[in-house]
Amino acid sequence: MMELAGLLEKMKMEHLMVSLDSLCEHASKRDLGYREFLTEVLRAEWQGRSQKGIQMRLTMARFPWIKTIEEFDLGFQPSIDKRVIRELSGLGFVGRAENVILLGPPGVGKTHLAIGLAVKAVEAGHKVLFLTLETLISRLKKAQMEHRVDKQLQQLVYPRVLIIDELGYLPMSREESGLFFRLLTRRYEKASMIITSNKSFTDWGEIFGDQVLATAILDRLLHHSTVLNIKGESYRLREKKKAGLLGGRMPVEISPKGVIMEETGE
Ligand code: ADP
Ligand code: MG
Repeated sequence: MMELAGLLEKMKMEHLMVSLDSLCEHASKRDLGYREFLTEVLRAEWQGRSQKGIQMRLTMARFPWIKTIEEFDLGFQPSIDKRVIRELSGLGFVGRAENVILLGPPGVGKTHLAIGLAVKAVEAGHKVLFLTLETLISRLKKAQMEHRVDKQLQQLVYPRVLIIDELGYLPMSREESGLFFRLLTRRYEKASMIITSNKSFTDWGEIFGDQVLATAILDRLLHHSTVLNIKGESYRLREKKKAGLLGGRMPVEISPKGVIMEETGE
């Protein structure tokens, strides 16, 4: 007969191995029944595993930073419908392979919301990947030069949620837009994308360098999607303003009314 430690090892119950002594002690103190004890033991292993899975998927997601939806101050951004955020947080869009498009000027929290939703997806067990448009395009172009675009595209279909951040900061060549379109086609109705952009849809023709391609891209993206058009003040600006008014060290321009005239960047 195998010893307990051996069994736990064979069954890869690594979290149980660590916590078994304290679980046993706890059970005898509280005089737990067999069934209750078994439940607690399996729960401990399960919790350990799911925590580890979350940690792994968070690392694989390559987020530039992590912030949650709960950390997002909706009060600061009245143009965002709270119900839409609540609905998206329920992750129905992931199950239905729908897209989320976050539009708005710099600093209004587009990336924060994208990451916050993706963190929820990670917690729910989904694979997620964060890419800026720039990184995505350079990856695809490199793959094309090495004659392995198909393989690269296939890899980009695996994540259940793909964030493409900062669409519109750089204009794209027709070839680059074509690669982006191929990615959309692959993922279409299979898996979700969260896209952020500082440009409104009417300017997308310019971004993609081709009106026909832009229309085809928008058609795919918008077919099943939630669009959040954020029309507020920059949160970064507000923080700078606060720092300025509190006599902070940051050189900010302040108008006679005490409003900062322009954003000073990061
Ligand atoms: P964008 O991507 O729209 O340029 P970010 O998401 O990068 O803006 O937001 C800029 C910074 O301000 C981030 O640190 C973000 O966490 C913070 N931020 C923006 N909006 C809010 C908000 N409503 N509540 C809390 N933090 C916010
Ligand atoms: Mg951003």
